[in-house]
Amino acid sequence: MKFCSNCAQPVSLSVPAGDHLPRFVCAACGTIHYETPRIIAGCVIEHEGKLLLCKRAIEPRHGFWTTPAGFMENGESVQHAAAREAMEEALAHVRIGSLLAIVNVIRAHQVHIMFRATLIEPSFGIGPESLESRLYAEEEIPWPEIAFLSVEFGLRRYLEDRRLGREQLHFRDIDWRDGKAILTDGHSQ
Ligand code: ZN
Repeated sequence: MKFCSNCAQPVSLSVPAGDHLPRFVCAACGTIHYETPRIIAGCVIEHEGKLLLCKRAIEPRHGFWTTPAGFMENGESVQHAAAREAMEEALAHVRIGSLLAIVNVIRAHQVHIMFRATLIEPSFGIGPESLESRLYAEEEIPWPEIAFLSVEFGLRRYLEDRRLGREQLHFRDIDWRDGKAILTDGHSQ
């Protein structure tokens, strides 16, 4: 950040009194600009035993497969955000079910919140951010072409729970060190 979004004067990084981290502070109007993690809401959609995946038409990970997910907007619940993303990316009208996973993507400053979901109507399509949408049986899922580690984590836990006839909530922290992904159990942090 270079300029204050409140008064358009230049900002500088400093630790405000009583705080413990550097923030962008505007000397002109006194506004402190906090940058905190953003929430990505998504869902694993099941229909007739298969899972609905979308091939990404946008970067990052253009051409890779993902579950519908995206940034939560102001004024909506996280469940609504997940359902809205399903509509936008897969033209899928979904019923949001239980909470599947919370993945902290530390370096990206994101928290991914994933729900289980089902199709309310047996139809779906291809939204503007997708190249293709299709239902995959468990054994057909293109694991090497899954776009993100958080999505792979959610899909694997979903399938594992389904085999065991349960619906649990799973945690994961994803960080990077020396260009390598480090996955840890969120409970142990
Ligand atoms: Zn200002």
